[in-house]
Amino acid sequence: MSNKEVFQIAIDGPSGAGKSTVAKAVARRLGIEYIDTGAMYRALGLKLLERGVAMDDEEAVRRVLAETEIDFRAGSIFLDGQAVEHLIRTPEVSMAASACSALPFVREKLVALQQQLGARKSVVMDGRDICAVVFPGARFKYFITASDEERARRRYLELLEKGEQTTFEEVLAAIRARDHNDMTRAASPLVRAADAEEIDTTGMSIDQVTDYICAQVCGR
Ligand code: C5P
Repeated sequence: MSNKEVFQIAIDGPSGAGKSTVAKAVARRLGIEYIDTGAMYRALGLKLLERGVAMDDEEAVRRVLAETEIDFRAGSIFLDGQAVEHLIRTPEVSMAASACSALPFVREKLVALQQQLGARKSVVMDGRDICAVVFPGARFKYFITASDEERARRRYLELLEKGEQTTFEEVLAAIRARDHNDMTRAASPLVRAADAEEIDTTGMSIDQVTDYICAQVCGR
């Protein structure tokens, strides 16, 4: 593939399947940008939590959204000009992201922003609706998944490493609750797009998945 050609690699899948680790590794290896769309919903979730806004208070969520700027600089997420990566990975922000991402007007704004971010340069973008909604014309589409237990185990180890107090059972229950929210919401529920290739990463290493995707991209 010519270096100048602009293309998108779209990666969807449930929480903890390894999407973002794989997406980052693929982007690094191919020398293109990685856009973490989950971080965008998380940034908004963080702001709503900090403001004490109830997710069912549509007026208030709309007001906050209208005065929110979300941006990526050198691959890092910025909320109203502040770097927030270190604040958005807590269990509370995960649930707030999942809740606000179910609101159609929230998705409308963030999807438009994602489309702008990926329009002019090659990107790897990961999320829940990238293959079907954000970049239905993406050249490469994947649905990355793993068993619930495997995903909970990975997330649990990540949280332990960060010094969070939690148990495996709590993490598994939270993953299942978030899957349920993401799969049953009316607006862009999490599903594998018909033309996305499913990769089950249970028992696979990050390198194996990265090699597989990079081989497909470079081989065309
Ligand atoms: O991918 P991550 O777990 O960081 O995403 C946080 C939440 O944001 C998800 O649970 C999901 O509800 C939402 N999300 C979404 N659409 C995307 C990316 C994330 O609805 N494209």
